[in-house]
Amino acid sequence: MDAIAAAQVLSEIGYLLRQDPKEVFRAKAFSAAAWSLALERPDLEALRKNNKLTSIEGVGAGIAKVLAGLVETGQSSYLERLRAETGQPARDDESTIDLGAYQGDLHSHTDWSDGRATMLEMARAAKALGYRYLGVTDHSPRIKVVNGLDAERLLAQSREREQVEKQVDGLVLLQGIEVDILEDGSLDLPDAVLEILDIVIASPHVKLRQETVAMTERMVRAVNNRHVDVIGHPTGRRPGSREGASYDFELVFREAANNGVALEIDTDPARMDLSPEHARLALELGCSFSLDADAHAPAEFAYVPMGAWMARRAGIPTERILNFRPLEALTMVSK
Ligand SMILES: [Zn+2]
Ligand SMILES: [Zn+2]
Repeated sequence: MDAIAAAQVLSEIGYLLRQDPKEVFRAKAFSAAAWSLALERPDLEALRKNNKLTSIEGVGAGIAKVLAGLVETGQSSYLERLRAETGQPARDDESTIDLGAYQGDLHSHTDWSDGRATMLEMARAAKALGYRYLGVTDHSPRIKVVNGLDAERLLAQSREREQVEKQVDGLVLLQGIEVDILEDGSLDLPDAVLEILDIVIASPHVKLRQETVAMTERMVRAVNNRHVDVIGHPTGRRPGSREGASYDFELVFREAANNGVALEIDTDPARMDLSPEHARLALELGCSFSLDADAHAPAEFAYVPMGAWMARRAGIPTERILNFRPLEALTMVSK
């Protein structure tokens, strides 16, 4: 059992625990331990042999016991029990995700908006992970607290992008935006600005409690905007604390598939959106996906390997996930 496989088991446990409001604290502990495994990639067999699993950051006695069982048997009876209790059993049509083929993350933030690191730091971290490209997608202006970017600041950011690319050999930076989907489904930046960017992620951030018909119209309009490449965290949910938006998923996913707009699986443990169930529906309707960390700091890139189980559980083959395509095959870059 390697550390990434174990991280995915702990991450799924954290996810299932979050569905019970009384278990949010424990859920967060499992997610934190999963993150630490994905970051540090310790030798679990050796630690288990020497009774040192608790030396891993974030791993206390309880989680160490789950890990020990996992190392010994390759399976987690605790996970199996939670899956049964929450009515989300393993299925025989899950996919295999070979993370070695992951080419780059399409959704990340820098200190141009609410990220905690510079573009150079994010780029160096992506390069160290072997990524070929990184989408730099800071926020649009509407949400003032995150210092969103307007046309002028995007232009300034593009000059920094040029400088950073010169310093990080072999990594391509895609300059993009995570643009807000406004209440009526229009976007928070004019077409003329969206047009010149390499990648446009449109995300619902506010007014998620709109009633279903209005929310459906809003999302349909967004996936029909010809500049949109990806819908970011498509429901806006925060498992354990905030329900996501409710809309006609089948209709919106179908439109997304028809327009070649990908749906994101945002692996930030606070989001995990789309859920595996919604992602499976989208898969059946012909959608493609983007599997991203939505990283606000270099360490958060590790959300992808720990959260990749979501795509696996949804049965999504890597051919349907943009991040497994070489740069030349990312049509949005030239769109
Ligand atoms: Zn977002
Ligand atoms: Zn984001």
